[in-house]
Amino acid sequence: MAGHSQGGGGDENRGHNRPPLAAATEIINAGRDPDRFDGFVNVPVVRGSTVLSPTVADLEGHTGRYTYGRRGNPTLEGLETALAKAEGGAGVALTPSGLSAVGMALLAVLDAGDHLLMVDSVYSPSRRICTAQLRRLGIATTFYDPLIGAGIAGLFRENTKAVFMESPGSQSFEVQDVPAIVAAARGRGITTLLDNTWATPLFFRPHDFGVDVSIQAGTKYLGGHSDLNLGTISANAALWPRIKGAYGDLGMTVAPEDAFLAARGLRTMAVRLERHQQSALRVAQWLSARPEVLSVLHPALPEHPGHAIWKRDFKGSSGLFSIILKPVPKPAVDAFLDSLELFGLGYSWGGFESLALPFDCSTYRTATQWAPGGPAVRLHIGLEDPADLIADLERGLAKLA
Ligand SMILES: *Cc1c(COP(=O)(O)O)cnc(C)c1O
Repeated sequence: MAGHSQGGGGDENRGHNRPPLAAATEIINAGRDPDRFDGFVNVPVVRGSTVLSPTVADLEGHTGRYTYGRRGNPTLEGLETALAKAEGGAGVALTPSGLSAVGMALLAVLDAGDHLLMVDSVYSPSRRICTAQLRRLGIATTFYDPLIGAGIAGLFRENTKAVFMESPGSQSFEVQDVPAIVAAARGRGITTLLDNTWATPLFFRPHDFGVDVSIQAGTKYLGGHSDLNLGTISANAALWPRIKGAYGDLGMTVAPEDAFLAARGLRTMAVRLERHQQSALRVAQWLSARPEVLSVLHPALPEHPGHAIWKRDFKGSSGLFSIILKPVPKPAVDAFLDSLELFGLGYSWGGFESLALPFDCSTYRTATQWAPGGPAVRLHIGLEDPADLIADLERGLAKLA
């Protein structure tokens, strides 16, 4: 893993007097170094465990830029450097999945006897990290209402060490008041972490809001093509040594092919997200006018309860949102989803293709009630022409009757 100042984007060395570059420009150049790789535009896939040293003195003195595959690799370093730039943090660590990034970060921050505050709308597999694994280590978790805001202070205990956020929730789309939660936690020296997979650093930069640790399931928009699992952990200067230490101690690394694919995804992420955003908004607006639909859970729609906070804090919205149908029996919902031709039925999201998924948060929530008033379906709007997606949904909704 690479600290912010390490490694070389060609960008790093030039133009100190120019105004700051747009994020969309930075992600094109950061972490690439054509001069180092005979002019090739991309950092190549470097496979390797053993790294040879010229002399015993070099071996024992660790004088080389790399010492062992798990401890540093040019392909991984290129991606880490680019992501550190995009996140505005002190360093980035890559993990084998988004879920492992959540687990690794929590393990790095928490000690036996500590108390964790975890948002009730979190990606549901992240709950078991708390209720099964952290609990086994003597770390207690309290789940909290995503809309709690500054009220989070009322849940602080003597031993509260960390607050974990995910905004918006990736099924139910509550938007958290991140600045209010960070302000409350700061005053007590409590670490803040945020799963930022929905927005990516292009639409929300957690470190700019004082969040200590920013996590992404790189599986989603970073990869962008539904062909890899990857997690990223970005930390500010205060938390980076702790993340870096735990990462090394636990022997974490990722395959160079996966890092290569993620770096390749990063170069086009701004244009892909822009298209996801526009198409998702168009489909969401169309759905909100449909008689079969009770509500559309999309933070960029003015009627969404989290819209004001979203507008205040975010630079954009991505391709994932949910709809609540007017009450119909489950077989009707299944017939609607089964009839869709352009929306695949499957987990995950963030790829080029559209997806649909029925869901029910009431089966796992503990701090809040989930009673949306009808069957819930999550949609990922891919890069297809939105008119085709709307036509597909229109044919599908007819099956509800
Ligand atoms: C998908 C997802 C994860 C987990 O990523 P994996 O690579 O599938 O482990 C974590 N958080 C959020 C918000 C996600 O959507």
